[in-house]
Amino acid sequence: MVAAATRPPDPRRRALLRGRLHTPHPLRPPWALDERAFVDACTGCGACVAACPERVLVIGEGRLPVFDPALGECTFCTDCASACEAHAFRPAQDAAWALQARVAETCLTLHGIVCSSCRDACGESAIRFPVTSCVPTPVVAADRCTGCGACVAGCPSAAISLRPVTSEDAAHV
Ligand code: SF4
Ligand code: SF4
Ligand code: SF4
Repeated sequence: MVAAATRPPDPRRRALLRGRLHTPHPLRPPWALDERAFVDACTGCGACVAACPERVLVIGEGRLPVFDPALGECTFCTDCASACEAHAFRPAQDAAWALQARVAETCLTLHGIVCSSCRDACGESAIRFPVTSCVPTPVVAADRCTGCGACVAGCPSAAISLRPVTSEDAAHV
């Protein structure tokens, strides 16, 4: 019997997933290859999901692993990447990913309600509340945010998501 981690990917599954490459895809684990290469390499064995001590990875569509920050914070321990025998991850020396926290208009402070839960959750001190009004609003410092997701679960209005950093964002860092 062929071990799950070394089983070749199902070509029909690959074709299905490749057909969706032009649509936004879920967040992948840190150090995952670019989406096209990841879809090609991942066998769907689930080893990375099982290896995550924070339980922030889940099996998603096509049995591909998904990072769900609503479940908690990625600590960048690299256990997921180390568990992968299918070479679906980049070396741990590389940057983990290009994700950063974004605050949506559902943020309570934009509706006159004082809140700073995201600042309290962020171990990187990446969220500041400049006093520009009687109810300060959060600002994410692009040069500090690691995209760990610690702020996501703690937001009472589900206003924070992790998004890829765009070239426009980078120009403002
Ligand atoms: S780096 Fe560690 S905490 Fe983050 S998703 Fe991988 S196993 Fe989980
Ligand atoms: S935790 Fe959520 S609602 Fe509260 S300030 Fe941060 S983004 Fe706004
Ligand atoms: S994603 Fe992590 S580093 Fe970025 S603001 Fe949220 S808690 Fe801080």
